[in-house]
Formats: sequence, C-alpha cells, structure tokens
Amino acid sequence: MTDSFEAKGKRKKLVDELRKKGISDEEVLRAINAVPRHIFMDPAFLNHAYVDKAFPITSGQTISQPYTVAVQTSLLRVKKRDKVLEVGTGSGYQAAILAEMGVKVYTIERFRDLYIKAQRTLTSLGYSADFFYGDGYEGKEQYGPYDGILITAAAPEVPDTLLQQLKTGGRLVVPLGKSDFQVMTVVTRTGQDSFEYSSHGTFVFVPMLKGIVNE
Ligand code: SAH
Repeated sequence: MTDSFEAKGKRKKLVDELRKKGISDEEVLRAINAVPRHIFMDPAFLNHAYVDKAFPITSGQTISQPYTVAVQTSLLRVKKRDKVLEVGTGSGYQAAILAEMGVKVYTIERFRDLYIKAQRTLTSLGYSADFFYGDGYEGKEQYGPYDGILITAAAPEVPDTLLQQLKTGGRLVVPLGKSDFQVMTVVTRTGQDSFEYSSHGTFVFVPMLKGIVNE
C-alpha cells in the first residue's frame, strides 16, 4: 500500500487538529504531515489512521495517539543528527517521525514479531533506524550516550540503567505511573549525578514489561 491524495488530505487535517490542541513545534508537525501513518496499520483501517486516537496493532499492543507522539517528540527537543534511543518500537510510527526529523534512531522492542514488522515498514518507506529485539530496561549502552531517550510504554519508575545512558544535557521522556494513567515526565541530566524532573500532563500507555517475547 502506498500514500495517496486522500491520505495526504487527512494528514493535513490531523496536523491542523494537533495545532489546535496546542502542539506548536513546527518540525514535529512537519514530520506528522510527512509520515503516512496508515502504512503502520492494517490497510483495512485506513479510515482510522488519521483520527487522533491510539489504535490496536498486533501482539496486543497499540500505535500511540498522534497527539501523544507529538507531545513526546516535542518534549525531547531534538535536532538533526541527535542520537535517540526509543524503548517500545511497536508499529515503528514514532521511530519514523524521529527519522523524518533527521534524528539517528535506535529502537528496542520486546515482541519479536513487532520488531520484524516495524523494521520492514520503515525500510519500505525509505527511513533508516537501528532496530533491536530486546528488553528496553537494559537500554543499548554500546551506542550511547544519547541526546534523548524516549519510553513509549508506561514505566512504574524511571529505569536507572537508562538514565546512565543519557548525555549530560540529554533528556529522557517517560510516561510514569501504574496502569490506570501516567504522568508524562521529562528527566534532564544536568551533571554526572544530577537530574531534574518536570511533569507534562497525564496519558494512558500499555505497560513497560521486563523480558522478551518470542512471538
Ligand atoms: N512507539 C510505538 C508505540 C508502541 S506501544 C509506536 O509508535 O507504534 C509500546 C510498545 O512498547 C509495545 O510494542 C510493547 O511491546 C513495548 N514494550 C513494553 N515493554 C518493553 C520493554 N521492556 N522493552 C522493549 N519494548 C517494550
């Protein structure tokens, strides 16, 4: 399935909607306008692809709501060629948004199937990113330290291993909390052992779980 005039029109409307909801980072809006979200979903759901809602994908997971992707990406404050580690590849949509922005993306997924599918999808769209099948709680130390770390699953607490893989001045964005809702939290590394926290509204994510799943 390819992009279409219809999908392009719907994306433009989605971007207008996100602007009204308070998203003002032009680079993020440009990326959302450019990346064909419907390619990350089952082709049967084209009508749902540009509605500002999360949507089920396989393995019982979800593709995040566009608004949520826009908030998380804006909070990262990345620029071209920054290195970002994403935990929770899922459909690969968020990784594609970052790649579209010129970011060097490293992304980890604990479900083997999703890891394979997302890699295929991004490649077919011509985006490059480094994909890993593994447990995001461990991060990817060998490619760090990172300018940004983005966790796209609900974490009960900020994983210390990931904080240690941030550059000084780097930002980690994480929905923090138990299953009912989470507080979007930015942790900025201000020094070797110093971190600053800020909160940015409540969201609902699928949980960040330990270990890998071979399906
Ligand atoms: N960023 C995704 C949203 C994915 S939903 C997108 O754009 O579509 C969250 C994903 O995090 C799920 O696919 C889930 O399997 C994954 N996940 C949860 N815990 C994880 C962990 N410890 N390591 C890696 N991935 C994890």
